[in-house]
Amino acid sequence: MSTRILVVEDNKTLAKLISNKLATSLNTEVDVAYSLSEAKLFLARHKYFITLLDVNLPDAPNGEVVDYALKKGNHVIVLSANIDKDFRHKMLQKNIIDYVNKSGNNDIDYIIATIQRLKKNKAHKVLVVDDAMMFRKQMQRMLENMFFEVITVAHGEEALGMLQAKPDISLVITDYNMPVMNGFELTLEIRKTYSKDELCILALSGNEDDEISALFLKHGANDYIKKPFSKEEFSVRVNNSIEALENIQMVTNYANRDYLTGLYNRRYFFNTIGEYIEEVQESNERFAVAMVDIDNFKHINDTYGHDVGDKVIISLADILKSSTNPHDIVARFGGEEFCVVLKNINRFSAVDIYERIKHAVEEFSLAVNKKEIINFTVSIGATLYSDEEGLDETINQADMLLYKAKQAGKNQVVFQEF
Ligand code: GH3
Ligand code: MG
Ligand code: MG
Repeated sequence: MSTRILVVEDNKTLAKLISNKLATSLNTEVDVAYSLSEAKLFLARHKYFITLLDVNLPDAPNGEVVDYALKKGNHVIVLSANIDKDFRHKMLQKNIIDYVNKSGNNDIDYIIATIQRLKKNKAHKVLVVDDAMMFRKQMQRMLENMFFEVITVAHGEEALGMLQAKPDISLVITDYNMPVMNGFELTLEIRKTYSKDELCILALSGNEDDEISALFLKHGANDYIKKPFSKEEFSVRVNNSIEALENIQMVTNYANRDYLTGLYNRRYFFNTIGEYIEEVQESNERFAVAMVDIDNFKHINDTYGHDVGDKVIISLADILKSSTNPHDIVARFGGEEFCVVLKNINRFSAVDIYERIKHAVEEFSLAVNKKEIINFTVSIGATLYSDEEGLDETINQADMLLYKAKQAGKNQVVFQEF
């Protein structure tokens, strides 16, 4: 999708200032038109991500450019020097994204932040739950204008079904008064499965009772809007909720993952495998644990430099990920040492997969520059987990077997003997 932006503004100095700032901060192409007739030419030529439109142009003094751009299916942010309340209100009734005063530098920064937000919104799915079709449609229109992917349903049960079908929904917007299951009951039901780090809930109600909002918030809604609400309040609250969710997820990701490879780090490995061991304790499910270490890695670093060393580590991480199932656990323990857990597996299949990893690494070559490629190998020590020994001892065993593989000449898998 295009990220191109159109600025329509008859004050040339201001138009240049805005377009330069947008182009550098957003790293995108920006066109500038000084009148409605010029704007028409640009709109015919390109598909724009956002159009920023001045409502007072020499050939269009009353916001005609806004109606024109909307009619052509564009996403519009209105730029105005007019602070008249009625005019602002009239503009906001149109299907625009925002109405921004263009008086100072802060306003340009606000526009940039808004566009950055809109770009990220494309990655989010929003589920709207309301029994009134008119409200559903109205919210859908506003949310789609904010670049969200929108799904609408008419009641709570339908919402729960949709969440099962599409588990990557980021935000649920739910009405309170609905037949069978009201919004409050839906919120309780959703929170049984989804925590606030996974999904946010925005509650709506026309109910005059103030207790409802407190109840909603106590039982898992992130925010609450009273009907009737303005488009501005709606979009600000939606964006705030999504932003809070993104921040939580970013922090969690930082804490759990290794920066270089994106694999789980050692700390997260122990948390997640702990949960898995509890899960399989009652069953006969077996799993394998392997320590994987790059051979002569110091030599690679010394010969080609640390950056190439890093690329080798990243390449190995990719090979480990693509050679295993998504439910297996691949973690970077530190340096050039990885742990690979294969879930629900027997000895023979585990040996087979670890051998395949060893082989895939051997086959892989990394281009260091236009002329040179390098190859590298790994040694692997592996064992099946046993409950009597526990996790620490199992990992120790895998480490000792890795040491054996190194002693025996490297580039090999040593699996624990029967
Ligand atoms: P062996 O075959 O016995 O495993 O020898 P080796 O050279 O691979 O192992 P050794 O443990 O002696 O050296 C590992 C080196 O890895 C030392 C350290 O400087 C380097 N290293 C650790 N972390 C990183 C990293 O993130 N990036 C890079 N490029 N090098 C790293
Ligand atoms: Mg090594
Ligand atoms: Mg080492």
